[in-house]
Amino acid sequence: MSGIKLVLGDITTAEVDAIVNAANEHMLGGGGVDGAIHRAAGPALLAACREVAEANGVRCPTGQARITAAGNLKARYVIHTVGPVYAFVDNPAQLLASAYRSSYQLALEHGCKRLAVPAISCGVYGYPLADAARIALGVSSEAPYRDLDITFYLFSQAIYDIWIAELGRR
Ligand code: ADP
Repeated sequence: MSGIKLVLGDITTAEVDAIVNAANEHMLGGGGVDGAIHRAAGPALLAACREVAEANGVRCPTGQARITAAGNLKARYVIHTVGPVYAFVDNPAQLLASAYRSSYQLALEHGCKRLAVPAISCGVYGYPLADAARIALGVSSEAPYRDLDITFYLFSQAIYDIWIAELGRR
């Protein structure tokens, strides 16, 4: 588990190869961590997002990920992923795991090693926190991603404590 770190703090301050964003399917900004990342990155990030191919307004379906430049952030890339809205889907665990895996896969394809990652779906998307922690840390320790340096930026003491407890169980 040496490649996984937990930080209580703001992901927009991370100095890494790629910052993972918990976006929505439109990829044009939003609330929560998405809004914070767009504010810190500046308008270049929105412009980069607009370049991503869309189908019926969807740039990134739930469970998938897309990569863009990172504007003013101290990162080379932003990897936008869309976690499930917990109450709206039949297979939230599969989709949440897929959001993390798709992000890590894109990171590897683009030569990124150091990643900053938020608690995907743990805000307005309403994922139960302990279940989300188990999936997040489980996927992050899967064999294909062992060379990645993954730092979770957790934005509340409550979520941080849950992630710490789950990490301690592993
Ligand atoms: P989702 O729509 O996937 O639920 P949210 O942005 O609502 O995404 O929440 C995801 C997590 O990101 C929540 O735990 C929220 O507290 C957290 N968060 C919000 N702002 C930041 C930030 N600046 N840095 C890190 N995490 C953040």
